[in-house]
Amino acid sequence: MKRKLKLTITKIYRQTMITPTIFRAACPVCRCEVQTLTPREAARILQIDEMAFDRLVADGYVHAALTVGGYPRVCKNSLLR
Ligand SMILES: [Zn+2]
Repeated sequence: MKRKLKLTITKIYRQTMITPTIFRAACPVCRCEVQTLTPREAARILQIDEMAFDRLVADGYVHAALTVGGYPRVCKNSLLR
């Protein structure tokens, strides 16, 4: 059985660097400024592999957006629910 997948790609136009590894940006789902992570960092926090993490993003359990440069960033708030 084929499964339909709806994927919305949102771009982050402004992000603030707090330290060289910590960034803040507006999450399009939470509609507020949040700390963002790379997908690898987020998968490590959840202790799952990156493929399992990609499924969580595709299913909408985790918020993710692309920077203007094309790099994915993950909303840290959505990991802590
Ligand atoms: Zn969010």
